[in-house]
Amino acid sequence: MTRGVEVESQLGDLRVSRQLDWGARFPGLVQGITLRAPDLDFGSSPRGGWATLQSSAGIPRVACCRQVHGAAVAVYDDSHSSGVKVLGDADAIVTAREGVLLAVTVADCVPVFVVEPVRRLLGLAHAGWRGTAAGIAEATLGAMSRLGAEVASLHVHLGAAICRKCYKVGPEVTAALGVPEGTRHVDLRDHIARSVRALGVDSGRLTASQRCTRCDSGSFYSYRGGDRGQRMCAFLGWSAG
Ligand SMILES: [Zn+2]
Repeated sequence: MTRGVEVESQLGDLRVSRQLDWGARFPGLVQGITLRAPDLDFGSSPRGGWATLQSSAGIPRVACCRQVHGAAVAVYDDSHSSGVKVLGDADAIVTAREGVLLAVTVADCVPVFVVEPVRRLLGLAHAGWRGTAAGIAEATLGAMSRLGAEVASLHVHLGAAICRKCYKVGPEVTAALGVPEGTRHVDLRDHIARSVRALGVDSGRLTASQRCTRCDSGSFYSYRGGDRGQRMCAFLGWSAG
């Protein structure tokens, strides 16, 4: 796995952290995660943060889901509607469409960004320990394969999330993830990386952010750090072609 360099930059009215290499590699891709911003609310209202995200990204449609820490993947296949569409209970979204911004909210959980540049397919998942144990990353790749993606063509980036040092866990988590009993600290990004490599994702196309949402509480919200009800929004879409 390659260390993925993330840089902070401006996207419209938003400060975001994005995977540096993908900007040049994938023209037209809009990717990143919002930073701590008290006036941005990614709650159930379609206004607030969602509207700001939509206008800042310059993409007419946003697709999100009611996140339930499971392994269900929603498929977005709609070229008509505009605004924010909630796809139901799921923790990942895949699409073969351009002009839609996939979105998941996170605060310590891992945003998993997947790009298939040949057929221009996208996938975005929210992976905490429950979703990781349930196989949400694998399910996302499976859903993209059903849309025609070759796993060997996939690029995966694991975004800003809680680091191993900050992620102290108990027996419930170690049992679910299958790590040795007594393990005190877990790196979710390492787990997800192993899972997607096992499915055939090339290590050279797999990057992980070095940023920790709890260590860097000036930039990010952290659930473990005490932020409740506030989230960053991770997003991924092609500008309308
Ligand atoms: Zn940390």
